[in-house]
Amino acid sequence: MLHSTQLEKYLKYHFGYDNFRPGQRQIIENALQNRDLMVVMPTGGGKSLCFQLPALLKPGLTVVVSPLIALMQDQVEALRNNNIAATFLNSSLNNYQVRSREEAIMTGKVKLLYVAPERLISDRFLPLLDVVNEKIGIANFAIDEAHCVSEWGHDFRPEYRQLILLRKRYPHVPTIALTATATNRVRSDIIQQLGLRDPSIHIASFNRPNLYYEVRPKSKRSYAEILEIVRENEGSGIIYCLTRKKVDELTFKLQKDQVAALSYHAGLSDKERTENQTKFIRDDVRVMVATIAFGMGINKPDVRFVIHADLPRNLESYYQESGRAGRDGEPARCSLFFSFGDVKTIEWSINQKTDPQEQLIAKQQLRQVIDYAEGTDCRRTIQLGYFGERFPGNCGNCDNCLYPKPVQDWTIEAMKFLSCVARCKERYGMTYIIEVLRGSKSKKILLNKHEQLSTYGIGKDKTVDEWRMLGRSLLHQGLLAQTNDGYSVLKLNTLSWEVMRKQRSVSIAVPVTQKVNLEAESPKAAEVEVLIHRLRNLRKKLADEQAVPPYVIFHDSTLRLMAQVQPKTLDEFGQLSGVGSYKLSEYGDQFLAEIKVYRQEKAAQILENSQNNHSAVSSIDNYPSDTEVSTLELYQQGLSIEEMAQKRNVRISTIIRHLSDLIEKNQPVDLNRLIPLQRQQKIWQVIDVLGDISLTPIREYLGENYTFDEIRLVRSRWRREQKKS
Ligand code: ADP
Ligand code: ZN
Repeated sequence: MLHSTQLEKYLKYHFGYDNFRPGQRQIIENALQNRDLMVVMPTGGGKSLCFQLPALLKPGLTVVVSPLIALMQDQVEALRNNNIAATFLNSSLNNYQVRSREEAIMTGKVKLLYVAPERLISDRFLPLLDVVNEKIGIANFAIDEAHCVSEWGHDFRPEYRQLILLRKRYPHVPTIALTATATNRVRSDIIQQLGLRDPSIHIASFNRPNLYYEVRPKSKRSYAEILEIVRENEGSGIIYCLTRKKVDELTFKLQKDQVAALSYHAGLSDKERTENQTKFIRDDVRVMVATIAFGMGINKPDVRFVIHADLPRNLESYYQESGRAGRDGEPARCSLFFSFGDVKTIEWSINQKTDPQEQLIAKQQLRQVIDYAEGTDCRRTIQLGYFGERFPGNCGNCDNCLYPKPVQDWTIEAMKFLSCVARCKERYGMTYIIEVLRGSKSKKILLNKHEQLSTYGIGKDKTVDEWRMLGRSLLHQGLLAQTNDGYSVLKLNTLSWEVMRKQRSVSIAVPVTQKVNLEAESPKAAEVEVLIHRLRNLRKKLADEQAVPPYVIFHDSTLRLMAQVQPKTLDEFGQLSGVGSYKLSEYGDQFLAEIKVYRQEKAAQILENSQNNHSAVSSIDNYPSDTEVSTLELYQQGLSIEEMAQKRNVRISTIIRHLSDLIEKNQPVDLNRLIPLQRQQKIWQVIDVLGDISLTPIREYLGENYTFDEIRLVRSRWRREQKKS
């Protein structure tokens, strides 16, 4: 058994990561003990590493079963870029390629073999595997996307059923089954169908803390909002639409607005689809507008946003589709545009189903989606609750938690609305009722003489969308009914009459308009973005040279670290998370050179600015102000910071500011009296690396253990030293 800290060492060496993700270490330890494993982790949880690292640490070949050719190629490319001996066998290879790969396997040159299930269990391949088993040894079978074995899953593949044959033929070889499917039934099916022996079962939380979830009302402004989300972001994104037609329309609009977007749907030829997908994965286009046909088997880790322009069919698919964002653990946005019109469309298609049982299930699923979209609770609580997981709420990373919708009393409006339904004799749908309320002069209204109703035009003060919002809310709260015959005629019920008789009040949650930009960027953050942009270009160049996706070279998160830390030496560079031994030797110099050029340009700019401003820096600026001198006097009397604040009747932060400025102005303030030396040194080091920047990023780097006050004081001392040199 490996010593525990050694595992981290291997993780860093081979993959460049400093820490395991939740669950990974335990799973890897179990794998090294040759246990069977059942691993359930959400997308982006880091399943692959759970069999990849053991494969490198155990003798013999690890055989990975994977259902999709594209997935195999991706994973093998990523592994090779860490100098790991991995290969795949599938139908995309010619005979010659197959033979040479098989030979490499037979001579023990390969540690990880990715193979499709049908090939693995073929009469041609099994004898070869027998030889491997005897001569080299098989370390593990890893069954990826293991839910494919279950008829209850969404992606049943009969070939997976035959994998039990491996268990019989190689009884001593442990099996690791992995899936992102959360339901219980599928899990137990996997264990049974694959014949797992006393498996160690690991089920991770399905919460994806880095994803921001939001629901926006769909309106005429929606396209502008989509464009805003797309532009706000430099990374890749997926936009899902319900129909091919909508996909093409949206792609066209985005292209006209200078966004690099492409379509993906079943109406395109195989060739076009593959081409578009490759362009997306390689960052040649930024946005993929698609039907749900797109996404299975895309493991691009740096998708920064997933927008649902139309309503998804059920919550499970929404979770899976939106979950394609942010696999790398970096912040990503999941936006859903919700409209009642979409509900109608889906309802209509449900009503076309002939099987009443199917209809019932579909309706229930639709109801759950509506509840999610209209819910005012934490989006995670609603979503995870659907998977049977309890989440306490207050996630701080969804619209409902960040911008709780104010609940307003709309009793008067509800009375107007319901009376209008009554006056119209309960014979019309919502659109018509709203037209009457807002005093429309449409033909139909005039024909019905409804401009003579007492409720005609009494709702001009509210927009159509606002009336709709009220109408929907009345329906959901059961204060109004609707026929189910496809015409959705509004009907009053007993509760409606209670409202109209003022026996019941009506409250509704009113959405607040959100801004995409949560925070203004600090100058430093903007600088980091500039450098990331340059590093991204370098990454793209290197990736194109090898014809691999850019994320195979480095993840976004690693580029960000490079831009923040701005390492100067290979040693410093190698310490960044995401830089393993191989990538360090392969790419270190080129990225360091790029960072150096950036630093030099920046330094030149600063010099220029300071020369321009030179006359403004007078000696007066360096002389302490009167109030600072007063603080200095008290300090020299030996008072503590608190005592000084009390005596001077100012806040502690003011005293800190005085002291900092005094230090910077070269006055005799002894830092050692204020902060333990060790802490000073640590802060000093970080400022040395990050440079003279605002306190927040420095603190972010140091962690919560350090206070802004300490950092401010040390930074002043640091500045003083810079001035001297
Ligand atoms: P899954 O198959 O569970 O969806 P992956 O295995 O593709 O997830 O991993 C998702 C991303 O997270 C990958 O890009 C992978 O490189 C990265 N990753 C995995 N483990 C770690 C780790 N310990 N630290 C940082 N990143 C990791
Ligand atoms: Zn929340």
